[in-house]
Amino acid sequence: MTVELLKSIDVMSADGLAGRVWLYSDSLRIHVGKEVYVYDLEGRPIFIYFNDRLFVRGLSGEFVEKKWLSVRPPRRFLRRLRSEDEKRRIIEYAHWRLGTILNNIEDYDIQEVVEKIFRMNYWRLEVDADKFRRIYLPISILPPDQYLSLVLQPVIGCPYNKCSFCTFYRDRKFRIRNVDEFREHVMMVRDFLGAGIKMRRKIFLADANALIANTDLLVSYMDIVRDVIDHDNIKGFYAFTDYFHRKKSLDELRELRDRGLKRVYIGLESGSEKVLEILNKPGPPDMAVEYVNLFKDAGINVGVIILIGAGGREYYKEHVNETIKIINMMPLDKRDIIYMSRLKVREESPYRYLSLKYGLTSLSMGEMDRQISDIVSGLSFDKKNAPIVAEYDIDEFVY
Ligand code: SF4
Repeated sequence: MTVELLKSIDVMSADGLAGRVWLYSDSLRIHVGKEVYVYDLEGRPIFIYFNDRLFVRGLSGEFVEKKWLSVRPPRRFLRRLRSEDEKRRIIEYAHWRLGTILNNIEDYDIQEVVEKIFRMNYWRLEVDADKFRRIYLPISILPPDQYLSLVLQPVIGCPYNKCSFCTFYRDRKFRIRNVDEFREHVMMVRDFLGAGIKMRRKIFLADANALIANTDLLVSYMDIVRDVIDHDNIKGFYAFTDYFHRKKSLDELRELRDRGLKRVYIGLESGSEKVLEILNKPGPPDMAVEYVNLFKDAGINVGVIILIGAGGREYYKEHVNETIKIINMMPLDKRDIIYMSRLKVREESPYRYLSLKYGLTSLSMGEMDRQISDIVSGLSFDKKNAPIVAEYDIDEFVY
């Protein structure tokens, strides 16, 4: 089922701004003057845009402020809000704005959602976020095209968990949930989201590598999701995987595709074995080519992630040349994505020490821009059928 526009009405705010309210089958969208507000059908704010500032709120209660500073080179202002007071003021402003158009809203269905929005005041949203944190282990990261997915956690953590630049799953022990545990998790997620689930049509199987579960178990997970999630607009399943653990066979992948697996995301990071050694990521990278081939043969799309800046200035050329070589060996097409993720070294990350050991100099933003364009210019895909190339900024992630 696609998202349907159910109705829309013109409004005029008490302070004289013209606007419009759209009720979709999955959300309520409000424009007043230049301000934009998007809510799920339980009244949770998703996007709040006013005073030239965009705030994105996740189910976890986290807010990220985003702003494009320039498109070329791509520069964004990103800020994770730390102050509860600031979050409260943003929610209150949005409610105040909604109050200014309230007298114009006579439609019953729109009124019903608006009432839910008013009920979801700052404190109720805090309680809601608290429930979220009891149902989920932290959702550490998602690919950028999955931020509005329905995330489920059949597999906890990362089975490897040793890459030097990655600290996403250091807080948890790897384990695979059994079917009963997973069913309970999905039911809790469904009950928690309520009507808000309609906004989340892609199912992302977290954490770092759901595909490590046996194929039979994965099939059971997918059946459970279809059984428990009572809406017919599931757009398919998505997951991260790696290329160096036990691979699925072509038949297994075909079975998963038939069950709805649409795309997997693989962190290649680099085509250079030397750079992978610094990243403490198992290679060789041509194993990734082999696995991507299998996915594509099975009709499953891929997102391949490249770590821009890995290996610093010292390995700049090697990283570029070897990555181009490996990516060009992959049978990627316009249904696939190449994600350029700029290396961000966290305080606690072992990469920090390894870069000292290897004597690495970090790339500046400008050098990273150049590295992206050097890699892109070396790719040899047919222009009409080339994979999408997109930025993957881990700082903008919020769920
Ligand atoms: S980069 Fe991927 S494989 Fe490596 S530790 Fe992080 S989640 Fe695990």
